[in-house]
Amino acid sequence: MKRLFFAMLGTETNTFSPIPTGLGIWRDTLLKRRRETNPTVSRGHGVYAPLFSALDRRGWHLEPGLQAFATPSGITPRNTYESLRDELLADLADAGKVDAVLLFLHGAMVADGYDDCEGDLLARVRAQVGAQVPIGAELDLHCHVTDAMLANADVLVGYKHYPHIDTYERLVDLFEIVADTTEGKVKPTMARARCRMLGMFHTTREPMSGFVEQLYALEREPGVLNAWLGHGFPYGDVPDVGACAVVVTDGDAAKAQRLAQHLRDSFFAMRDAVVTDHFSIDDAIDTALDITTTDSLPVTIADTADNTGGGAPGDSTYFLTRLLERGIGGAAIGPLYDPGAVAICHDAGVGARISLRIGGKLGLQSGTPVDVDCEVVATADRVIQTLNGGPSNIGRSASVRIGLPDSTSIDVTLCSKRVQAGSPEIFTALDIEPRSKRMLIVKSTQHFHAGFAPISSRVLYAGDRGALQSRMQDIPYRRIDTSKYWPFTDTPEFDHE
Ligand SMILES: [Zn+2]
Repeated sequence: MKRLFFAMLGTETNTFSPIPTGLGIWRDTLLKRRRETNPTVSRGHGVYAPLFSALDRRGWHLEPGLQAFATPSGITPRNTYESLRDELLADLADAGKVDAVLLFLHGAMVADGYDDCEGDLLARVRAQVGAQVPIGAELDLHCHVTDAMLANADVLVGYKHYPHIDTYERLVDLFEIVADTTEGKVKPTMARARCRMLGMFHTTREPMSGFVEQLYALEREPGVLNAWLGHGFPYGDVPDVGACAVVVTDGDAAKAQRLAQHLRDSFFAMRDAVVTDHFSIDDAIDTALDITTTDSLPVTIADTADNTGGGAPGDSTYFLTRLLERGIGGAAIGPLYDPGAVAICHDAGVGARISLRIGGKLGLQSGTPVDVDCEVVATADRVIQTLNGGPSNIGRSASVRIGLPDSTSIDVTLCSKRVQAGSPEIFTALDIEPRSKRMLIVKSTQHFHAGFAPISSRVLYAGDRGALQSRMQDIPYRRIDTSKYWPFTDTPEFDHE
């Protein structure tokens, strides 16, 4: 029986985020250690059922190691990365002789001293198992595909969809290629073609949805094992940032290169159509006011620049500040990460009128703290919302009401876990009625949509201030020559490999 070692080590690093991805964030997200819980992955985890079915079909045995994932944040401290990496390598040694290695990575993890954690990890795994044992790695499409990753893995498979609805399907695709390689049926040959494009590209609408279909169509061609687009993660200021196409063929390097370049060129040709329009904060507020004079449902505005799901602090105050400065009420904002303010609200109790300093504490991109007189509307030890179809806890929370002279108010949900907005429970569980508001301002890029669109007259995206600026030209890159990248220039230099 063939033996497969399988481990996970991943996070998406926003190098502009002030919050280090320390061990506490890994523990809060996912940290299962082989020495504590063996097996760390089992059939009982529903998402892995397709992988186990594929293993069973081939008569393979799974030997799981470390499973570690962290909510996107800033640069991982060196000792945190090195200790998790070394633990994974020790698990691999402990697993004994294996026939193949499958790694569930992210591809955009940066640690202090390591621009390319995945390349470093893959090189060490390769050194440990030798050249003859196939290594496959799954990557989030928001990744930086580096030379070290390409050199040390036999095959890299990325997600095709954003939002990432195909994570576990792609894992099975990867396993099949790795197993076929081990069994001598195929010889994966990878090529990457980069295009130095920076951006976030939703695959839920054209032309990106059609592009995804093109990837599937390519995989039906004889000799093509896999094809995907690395969208890149533009909030990682590393030398390998930017989009690229990756094609894996069965032993035909020239064909892989030709197809990768073709995909890269057709993606680049769509560049002006693949980005989402974003409002400035004031334009979003003005547009929401215009809409709500004619419609009874609130307008939901996504504060995409402070999406904790992309590593942002979650405590930015730009919207709150502008609403207060302009005296505009009938608004609810949430969830705003401020455990200190939550503790004060809990201590003061429901109904208390207090002076409170809100948000703006974690870094420059959070704006400035806002001092208000407010009433504590509700408190809770936990608030469960729905995020990507599953339960998500925003932690110990409170809601406060800031009264305005015209008898309207701005209500704010304060939370103790850095979690993005997923559904209206972030308001309703804390006695804020979202339908009674003119506008709901939620901290999220896209995952809020399922929960909030049904109670909104319209959804707007605003992302000009914060850790995830929507305009790539506003991202304060220091490590790359932006004049060579789209959209800084419309004629970026491609890398021809
Ligand atoms: Zn992603």
